[in-house]
Order: sequence, then structure tokens, then C-alpha cells
Amino acid sequence: MLRSTLPLGLLLFPATVEAQDSGGSRAAALATWRAAHGDTWRAIEDPATGFVEMLHGGRTWSPGAAASDAELVDRARVWIGEARPMFGLDDATLVLDAVQFLPLGQIGSRDKFTVRFREEVGGVRVVGGFANVLFDADGGMRSIQSSGLPELAGFAVEPALSANAGLALALGDFATRHGVRANHWSTPELVIEQVVENGRRMPRLCWRTDAQWTKDGVEPIGEFLGVDARSGAVATWSPSVHFFDITGTVSAMSSPGVLPDIASNPEQAQRMRYLSVTSPAGNATTDGNGDFTIAGANTAAQVTFRFQGAFNNVVNNAGAAYTLTQTLQPGQSNVVLLNPSSTANLTAQANAFRCVNVLRDFVRATNPTDSHGDFVATANVDVSGACNAYYNGSSINFFPAGGGCVSTAYSTVVTHEQGHWMNDRYSTGNGADGMGEGNADVWAMYVHDNPIVGQNFSGGSFIRTGTNTRLFCGDASPGCYGEVHMDGEVWMGAAWKVRANLNTSLGNAQGDLAANTLFLAWMNAYNQSTIRSIIETQWLTLDDDDGILDNGTPHFADVDNGFRAQGFPGVTPPCPAPFTYCVTSPNSVGAGARIAWTGSTRVSRNDFTLVCTGARPNTTGLFFYGQAATQVPFGNGVRCIDNPFFRLPTRQANLSGDIVFQLNLGALPTGGQITAGQTWRFQCYYRDIAGGGALFNASDALGATWCP
Ligand SMILES: [Zn+2]
Repeated sequence: MLRSTLPLGLLLFPATVEAQDSGGSRAAALATWRAAHGDTWRAIEDPATGFVEMLHGGRTWSPGAAASDAELVDRARVWIGEARPMFGLDDATLVLDAVQFLPLGQIGSRDKFTVRFREEVGGVRVVGGFANVLFDADGGMRSIQSSGLPELAGFAVEPALSANAGLALALGDFATRHGVRANHWSTPELVIEQVVENGRRMPRLCWRTDAQWTKDGVEPIGEFLGVDARSGAVATWSPSVHFFDITGTVSAMSSPGVLPDIASNPEQAQRMRYLSVTSPAGNATTDGNGDFTIAGANTAAQVTFRFQGAFNNVVNNAGAAYTLTQTLQPGQSNVVLLNPSSTANLTAQANAFRCVNVLRDFVRATNPTDSHGDFVATANVDVSGACNAYYNGSSINFFPAGGGCVSTAYSTVVTHEQGHWMNDRYSTGNGADGMGEGNADVWAMYVHDNPIVGQNFSGGSFIRTGTNTRLFCGDASPGCYGEVHMDGEVWMGAAWKVRANLNTSLGNAQGDLAANTLFLAWMNAYNQSTIRSIIETQWLTLDDDDGILDNGTPHFADVDNGFRAQGFPGVTPPCPAPFTYCVTSPNSVGAGARIAWTGSTRVSRNDFTLVCTGARPNTTGLFFYGQAATQVPFGNGVRCIDNPFFRLPTRQANLSGDIVFQLNLGALPTGGQITAGQTWRFQCYYRDIAGGGALFNASDALGATWCP
């Protein structure tokens, strides 16, 4: 097993020694890694552990594609071992969680695989602790990400407190803080919670339980509580009930498109997929077209249909669950229509049933090997209350029309709540900084290919939109708006803008596929539970096709501009600054014209502006450019660019003798196209009649290397 040796002092005084020493030793470990695997590798530190959170930006050498999942897992362990000085992850604490194929080749990148480990000590899991290793299809390692705790191998997992004692303390704390006694709770689980102490994430052995209080007509309260299994102190709280949190006003029938069950959006007969069909002659499940076959039935039978099936069971809280029983004949194709009279309560059941299937099919359509959506959800409809919907860890729940709001069992509201469930299914969770809400909204928007979540929720108004302008507040304060849905708008907005950019660049179908593929690959390859700028690096690492992030990725501009539009800092690969060279020459007004620039030499931004100062006021000038340097007489001055060169349109100097030209990379002369990686040279030519001689002159020159 590959394992680096740790100095003994570190084990004795982990917190303080680490805090002082981490920067230096981590930097040295990265330098060692770079020396072995290439200079493009980069490390992002996790400020809450002092260790590295993500290693990326390069590609390791590979002996070739792995022959099996098991071989890939072995390789992942070797890389985590070699990176131990950076991540501090102990091999003995890593248990294989999943190997997942990521079909990124379908969007013009390269197929990848991700190996996920969960962190455990002696069978006790670390809550939220995972390590992910990304490989390309040729076996090269591309990134490691950890959401776990470093140096955990020796952590003691023997509780001083019994499970029942832990539960009693948790329920007492719940009652004290909420003023009501929990009326449901889960069996306490011994876990290692990640507790932040003095800015550092530390392991705490805890009894963890999900305590909930529910009452008809009132919003439920639910919480995961972690009680320290040694001291008995309550160490962690996090919400276990995730609301679709809106207060509404106004009105109220399977509904097509994204609109709710309203008069202007009458129900349409829509195919019911994956629905269970029962009869004395045998049972069946409808397929992706809504077709079913009860094999071997040769006489008429009483066949029963209900909104239950392979991926969802709908429970009607306003009465018995809907069933339809019909006598069907063998040897003919029978047409069955559920909810024929379109009553509101039945439409809610049909909508909830269908939309969960739509989300499940979205996952399989994007990545046929991804099974995270294949489980039987429970959807409660017409739950007592109005104007809301929620997910509580084991069901999704929808209110009937009332209080000025529509029946909430429809399209984006169903996929938002089911999205919360998917966040748990991918082990990313529903982070309280808005990530839970924001990512539930991303599910809703991406599944329905529509930026609006909760359209016509109350009257003509909607709940949230991906076109929102709520800006990212920085990595130091991810939840800066103080309310989880608003905080989440930052991430939903960025995710929608990335998708919109991909649609513009690639067309609707390919753009959607690229966005969906990146999103699901990200859910599989990383466990990002907070809204932070590292998300963009994770998307770009998945999008990268050659193991070098510095030269961009196939969809770099669309991804980067999407994040930037929402106020994220963006990812800026190194790009050298332009440089001046050659000489200027005296003219009729002074010592000669000088060339300068503003903007950037990034092709994706197209914001490079050429500036020439010190030319003769009001004269005519232009910029010309080429790739090779020279230094030869030219008019009254010197030409610094060799053939072939290209002329840009003429401009008039202003009263100060400045000539300005904003370069448009989309409108360059034939042959003069500028692409990333090239160096082009620019020079300013201007007329100078008063200067006599050749009657024209030139500035010094500017060399610019272009970046993605
Ligand atoms: Zn929510």
C-alpha cells in the first residue's frame, strides 16, 4: 500500500501544528506532485481542514484503460495514497461507494470514470465524508476531491453513551428549541460528524437521529441532530425537512408542459410510464411508452391501475388512492384512460406520478448507466395545507389548491422536491447555505428545460427563475442573503446561464445535452455541498479533453461566462501580459507615437482594444498586425512587423493625438484570424504631413499572446 510517513509530532498535536505547518508542507507536497506528474497540476486548499480539497489541472501518466472496475478502484487508492501529504486521507478509512461511467464524449469532450469512496472508521461513517477520483477513459487520473476529514485512521469509535441515551438528549434538545415534542424519529446511528470548531472541521463521535414534528395543516419541523457520544452535548443540527418555501395567494386539474392545473392549461391524456398494473391473470408494469403486457392471459380479466409503479408510489392524503378497474379483452389492443373526468385531486395524483418519472428518465437519457433515479419514491398529494410543497427525507409532499395558490403537484414543483431527494441520493445532500434549494431548482430547470420554477404558482406569478440577477457573495460568505431559497438563487442562476450559453453556442439539442451531461457528471464525480467558486473548476475539470486546464476546455467560455454572469469570480488560466518592443520615431508633434492596450487577450472575452498615443492630432491612422517581428525603415519611422501583415480599418486621431481601435475577433481580415495560443504583433501607422519626408510615421510595437 502506498502511504507516506507522517512525522510523530503531527499525530500528537494535530490542530496547532497543522495550523502553523499546513501551508508549507502542502505547498511542498504539491511541488513534489508536479515534479512527478507535470507543472499544470493545481491544488485548492480546504480552509476548514488546512489540507487540500481538490487536486486538478493535469493528467497523470497511465498504463492504459483499466480492464475492470476493480482495477480502477485499485488505481484510485494508489493515487489517493500518493496524494496523502496533500489530502491526509487514510486508505484504511476509505470504503468503495461507487464506480460511475461519465459519457462526456457525447458532448465533444472525452468519456470519463469516477470512483467514489466514503469515509468510515471501523464501520462508522463520516457524515458527508467522501473522496472522489476522476479518470479519463484511457486511465489517466484527472482530479481528486475530498469532502472528508484528514488523518482519521486512529479516531476512536467507542461511544460512552448508549444509543437510547443519545436519542433522549436529542429529543430533549428538539423540544426545548422548538417548543413542541418530536412525534417521529429515526433509530439513532453512530456516526462521525464533521463539526466546525475554531474555523476547523473536526471529527466528533455522535449519535445521529432525524427528529420530526408533523401536524395536519401546519408546516412540519424536521432536524438531524448529532449528540456527542462521549460528552452528551448536542453537537450538530441540520434541517431534514426541505420546503418548497413560498407563501402564496390565489386558486386551482395530468397537466401538460410546465403550467399547473389551471383552466387555461386543461389536462391532456399523457402516457403513464412505469405504472403497476395488477389483475388476477398476472401483473405488469408499463414501459417507457406506457405499454404493458400481462403474459399468458387468454380470457377477459379485471385489470386494476393505480398511480404506483417502478419509481413512485402516490399516496392521496384527501381520501383513498385512485384506482381504476376495467375488464380487458385478450388479443386486442386495449385503450385505458385514468382520471377521465379530470378532477383536481386525481390530476394532482397523476401529475406527481408522472413528473417523478420524468426526472428519472432525464437521468437515464443523459447517462444510461446512471441508476441514481431508480428507486421507488413516495409522493403525498393533497396534504393538508396550501401554497407549499416539501421533501422530508423519505417522501415528497404537495398541497391542494387554496389560499390563492394552485395545487402544487405539477411539473417544476415536483421536480424541485424530487431534486432534494436526488441531492441525497448522490450523497451531496441539501446544504443549508442555499445549495440544497439552489440545486433542487437546477434539477427542476434542467429536467424541464425551462428557467422558471413554479410557474403560475399563484395567479400569474412564479416562484424563482434561473434568469435572476442575485450575485454570488464570495467564498467567505456563501449564504449571504440570509434565506435558503434566495441564497440558492445564486447557484440556480449560474447553472441556468451556463446552459443558456451552451444553447447559444451549440444549438438547443446539443446545448441541452452538454449542460445535462456536465450537471449529472458533476453530481457523480464530486460531493459539493456548499455554493462556492470551486464548482466551476469541477465543471471545467469534467469538461476538459486533454489534461491541461490552462489551455481551456471544449466549453470553457460558455461555462466560465455563465458563472461570471452570476457574480462568481470565474476561472482564469494564466495568460501572459502583452509586451512592447521595437522603437518609435520622432514626429511633427514630439518624441513619437506609443502603442498600448486595454481589455484582455482572452479570445473568449473579445475585449481587446488598441491604443496609440502621441500621434499628430486629427490625423488619419490605422493599426496593422502580423505574427513575425522585424525592424526595417518605414516612412519616417520603423516597421516592426514582418510580412504577411493585415490592416485594420482606419480611425481618426482625436485632439490629443490618440487613436483607438476596439478589436472584434469576429470581424478580422481574411487570413488574419486570431486563435488562442498564437502570438500576434500590432503597430500603429499614421499620416504626418507636417513631419515632411515620407509624410507618414509609425509607433513602437506590441506583442500579444492570446489565451482561451
Ligand atoms: Zn426546496
